[in-house]
Amino acid sequence: MMFPDQKRRLYASAGAALVALFTVGVVTAQKIQFDRSGAVKSSVIGGSAKNVILLIGDGMGDSEITIARNYLVGASGRLALDSLPLTGTMTTYAVSETNPKKPVYTPESASTATAWSTGFKTANGRISTTARSDKDLKTIMQLAKENGYRIGNVTTAELTDATPAAPMSNVASRRCQGPLDMAECPKDTKAAKGPGSIAEQSIDLGVDVLLGGGKARYDQTIDFGTYKGQTVIQSAKAQGYSVITKKFELATAKPGEKLLGLFNSGNMSVQWTGQPAASSPSGPQRCKVGQRPNSEPSLGEMTTKAIELLNRKTSAGKGFFLQVESASIDKRNHAAQPCEQIGETVNFDNAVRVALNFAKANPKTLIIVTGDHAHTSQITDDDATPAGFTSRLITNEGVPMTVTYGTGNTPDGQRHTGSQIRVAAQGPQAANVVGVIDQTKLFYIMTRALNINP
Ligand SMILES: [Zn+2]
Repeated sequence: MMFPDQKRRLYASAGAALVALFTVGVVTAQKIQFDRSGAVKSSVIGGSAKNVILLIGDGMGDSEITIARNYLVGASGRLALDSLPLTGTMTTYAVSETNPKKPVYTPESASTATAWSTGFKTANGRISTTARSDKDLKTIMQLAKENGYRIGNVTTAELTDATPAAPMSNVASRRCQGPLDMAECPKDTKAAKGPGSIAEQSIDLGVDVLLGGGKARYDQTIDFGTYKGQTVIQSAKAQGYSVITKKFELATAKPGEKLLGLFNSGNMSVQWTGQPAASSPSGPQRCKVGQRPNSEPSLGEMTTKAIELLNRKTSAGKGFFLQVESASIDKRNHAAQPCEQIGETVNFDNAVRVALNFAKANPKTLIIVTGDHAHTSQITDDDATPAGFTSRLITNEGVPMTVTYGTGNTPDGQRHTGSQIRVAAQGPQAANVVGVIDQTKLFYIMTRALNINP
């Protein structure tokens, strides 16, 4: 119970504080005139790029970005991925396998990566092959290689997973990752005169830098052709690769030799952990950071090394194309694990920072930062107990944030969603991402920047 004069004093002091706040507000508003017209104009650059770096947060829609931003730098803070000057929105739908004229509104990583890798829409599960007719589509890395560019592929997933697979290989199914995984791709096997599994194709194409997980796929034995009886790793060594499996070995990798780094038998480890979302909300919790084993590099460390190895003049005087993926924003979203999802968004943001720093000294670099499809997680009302699986987090600014996963019947059964997602860019041709574009347009933006005629 508050006495009337106590109340009056409280209101008076609150009023004074408000006046003070208001005054400060007015002064600040006079000092900072919000007008970005000049900055936007000067970031519209035509012409060609020497290098293209495409950074993909798998399953990273606006919701995942906002959750990570709130947690790490606060609601009014900005991540590195927020700092690119030109932003647009991208549609990501797939098409039907039985009727490729019909859309499928919820895509996945194979159809989406095929879209920016080839300029074509395909059915879910396909890797740079056409829906129904199963024709191979020429990919951005194949084209870049033919045109004298160095190429690199960096991921926290298996290197043969859908997102890294689509720019460097053609198979009927994303499951055809190693020579022993070819059941769903009978026409793609080397025995059937096809290009082989995704792992084999990554080596046969001669991707200059391959860094990620998925060693078990490369340990499989090739059953046909020149390298019959050898593992994919042995065939890589025979084709001029140095092969490493530990983070410390990154330092020894030398420019001039192709590099295959396999830092986990499966997906790479996440860097943060915490309690999963639950039907009776978990938390309030703070995430456990620093959980990645010392043997595995961060995405930023892999990106730094990849750029160092790729950024040397080729005989043709060309630059490089590099794709970088943070995969477990998606994978931990499927498992309703907010801390692991946020940690991998932070892992991604640090890789974005590496690319932006490179572009400061190398302005003829087109950088594109985007996701591949939208996902489950939502910031929901703290007072509600939503249907679905929920966790309450305490952000770095000390405020509760409720995150809910509601697209599956079990916590680890969460599904993709079909919303449009953000695409941001800087450098030559970056202005082409502005507005609402389809994901397939990224292929044309990148090939145009690299002066490649697809
Ligand atoms: Zn997924």
